[in-house]
Amino acid sequence: MSDTPTGQISIDDLENVQITIGKIVGAIEKKAEEEGIDLGPTPKPGISGLRDWDYKILSRYQPVYTPVCDQCCYCTFGKCDLTGNKEGACGINMEAHQARETLLRVITGTAAHSAHGRHILHHLIDKYGRDKPIDVGPSNLIAPNTQAVTGIKPETLGDLEEVMDYVEEQVNQLLATIHAGQEGAAIDFESKILHGGMLDHVGMEVSDLAQMSCLGMPKAETDTPLVEIGMGCIDASKPVLLVIGHNVSGVTYIMDYIHEHGLEDKIELGGLCCTAIDMTRYQVENGGEPRAKVIGTLAKELKMIRSGVPDVIVVDEQCVRADVLDEAQKLSIPVITTNEKIMYGLKNRSNDSAADIIEDLSSGKEPGALILDFDTLGEVAPELTMKMAKIRDEKGIKALPSDEELQELSAKCVQCGACELDCPANLPIMSAMTAGAASDFTQFEYLHDLCVGCGRCDQACPKDLPVLNMIEQASRKLIGEERGLVRAGRGQISDPEIREEGVNLVLGTTPGIIAMVGCSNYPGGTKDLYKVADEMLKRNYIVVMSGCSAMDLGMYKNDDGETLYEKYPAKFLAGNLINVGSCVSNSHITGTAIKVAAIFAQRNVSGNYEEIADYITNRIGAVGVAWGAYSQKAIAIGSGCNRLGIPVIVGPHGSKYRRALIGKPYDEEAWKVYDARDGSEMPIPASPEFLLTTAESIEELFPMLAKNCIRPSDNSMGRMIKLTHYMELSQKYLGHMPEDWYKFVRTETDLPLAKREELLKILEKDHGWEIDWKRKKILSGPTMKADVSAQPTNVKRLCKGEC
Ligand code: SF4
Ligand code: SF4
Ligand code: SF4
Repeated sequence: MSDTPTGQISIDDLENVQITIGKIVGAIEKKAEEEGIDLGPTPKPGISGLRDWDYKILSRYQPVYTPVCDQCCYCTFGKCDLTGNKEGACGINMEAHQARETLLRVITGTAAHSAHGRHILHHLIDKYGRDKPIDVGPSNLIAPNTQAVTGIKPETLGDLEEVMDYVEEQVNQLLATIHAGQEGAAIDFESKILHGGMLDHVGMEVSDLAQMSCLGMPKAETDTPLVEIGMGCIDASKPVLLVIGHNVSGVTYIMDYIHEHGLEDKIELGGLCCTAIDMTRYQVENGGEPRAKVIGTLAKELKMIRSGVPDVIVVDEQCVRADVLDEAQKLSIPVITTNEKIMYGLKNRSNDSAADIIEDLSSGKEPGALILDFDTLGEVAPELTMKMAKIRDEKGIKALPSDEELQELSAKCVQCGACELDCPANLPIMSAMTAGAASDFTQFEYLHDLCVGCGRCDQACPKDLPVLNMIEQASRKLIGEERGLVRAGRGQISDPEIREEGVNLVLGTTPGIIAMVGCSNYPGGTKDLYKVADEMLKRNYIVVMSGCSAMDLGMYKNDDGETLYEKYPAKFLAGNLINVGSCVSNSHITGTAIKVAAIFAQRNVSGNYEEIADYITNRIGAVGVAWGAYSQKAIAIGSGCNRLGIPVIVGPHGSKYRRALIGKPYDEEAWKVYDARDGSEMPIPASPEFLLTTAESIEELFPMLAKNCIRPSDNSMGRMIKLTHYMELSQKYLGHMPEDWYKFVRTETDLPLAKREELLKILEKDHGWEIDWKRKKILSGPTMKADVSAQPTNVKRLCKGEC
């Protein structure tokens, strides 16, 4: 063999050697074989691994592009005018470029979550070791997204590293396809978007599994504590430490220091955004008391800083305003950055002593510090907060204008309209100024909840009026009353809960899961969330919350003074309200759907994404709502739901994501699947009729929610329940019956019981259906049959006789 030239094998030399060309057994396959895990066909899929599945769903749900900008300026050939689907200098057309823009947003979001996951994993492995078991409660399927995508069944923190390696490699490959001169087909960018979204849920899952296992967070508990929420629950007479961001790793050191030094009653610790949610999950497992308060969402960030209440601000990563340091400096609030993703040009003090850092920041020598050493951070943040509270008190720092000043400032407004033009919420600022000039501040007060706290009005004003501060000063009474309760994030839905509820979901007798997730860029204030959740809960849907939406929901109370978290129980059951946790906990929502397929329907989950997605698409009535979606992470989360066939509705601002995925209900060919029993074709209802779309108002949203929970597998009772809600919600909020209700009727027993006779008459008269009036039965008309044993599938190979 030694003489064999490179690249050429001489068979004559291979005496007594047998070569078998067969399956190359990789590490995952080997491990699966050892553990007796039946591995599906796509463990760790590459970019093209699930392309056939994507093409299937994209043929039903076609992309609709709504460009925000007609040009591309990615490279130095440009900028290129792509108006009217013209091609740029590199040959890419408008549609492909729009899909590329969407992909860029999706993988940015995926990278944000997976970088968070990698960071927290690194940190926790350093602290607890690679062998620390993953423990997320009474479940055997502990990592449904991870297992479905990678085929890996992780058991320890160390196992999660391999999962992250895969996600990072794929994100890198996807990022490379954004480069000029790569992909040219919109459809393949779309497939890549779905791939990125799927990876996002794996990255999120890793983050949450790691932190749930190590930080004493609730593990699928249904009675997690209620946590105070709102700007009004912060006691401003105490030193106030404000934390903003998403990555709770460093903050736990601050919380430990406060706890160990008995400072809980001496310091107010409040958080904004997902870090706040995760702070309140920290060590509350098995009845532990929450150690922090939630102030609110991103929309409260600038408002909270401008109020002057915080004495120190600690930021970590994601959704943190870029001007935190500048704004804080104006009010002598030191800022500590704790994560390399946000450093604000501050000096790295990670190796300095806590005393030196406290001295430099409290004396104003430095406006803030970068502290990457968490032990130092843990000591500096609370000690500095106590010191700064005194210093800032003595300085008599004034944050907001007085009422007299408010009136004077209002009178300076020249009604030029620049602020309104720039306001992303289109708020009526000018009339508030006019009223304010006459000392009537009620209109400013009205703006408070609608204002997303961006500060664009301030910058637009030629008179330099501090519009946001004026709104906030006028609203201080309202703000004082902003005190709600949010249930601490519970983490996963457990296997026993899936066993109990899975059948009801699949048959439709539990009408569906409404997952209200995402950010706070709402079109009409925060109360819309409350209205949507309450209506759907009363109708027995399972409402699942996470992230900023979970927080804002807790801000409102009913006439009995109860928040919805108090009014509705928190199990995974019809009519229950669940907060899974921060935005990385969104992985538990898709994880729940995967678990239904795996546990209730006993589908193989490992590396078997397509079959699982196909099952979910046809059988699990679920709709995601990201009513205030603003971030790249939100579109990544949505895209991950989409690859599993879960439709997502975004609020009106979501149209700026520039593309929707919409089906054509009138195209009968698009609404056909195979019956896996014999491979024959069967028609299915046109629901969900989209995978990603926008609703303009909550009135429009309500019937959309009910309708798009309809699935082919509904039994008659389930279909009747879903149709009843669809018709009632349409009547209640739009004032009329939906036009297409009859398209979902397969038999008379699908019809809402109370209106059956009336509806049969309409079917006969308006749609020409044949009715046996004696037996009140439909004789002919429906295009679909009610057949509970049918096995709807989009995937031919899953049919009997195929392989
Ligand atoms: S990437 Fe293509 S379309 Fe964009 S600027 Fe460059 S040449 Fe023009
Ligand atoms: S701070 Fe509020 S009022 Fe001002 S532009 Fe932003 S949303 Fe509009
Ligand atoms: S931009 Fe300033 S001056 Fe113009 S309408 Fe708004 S508040 Fe008044």
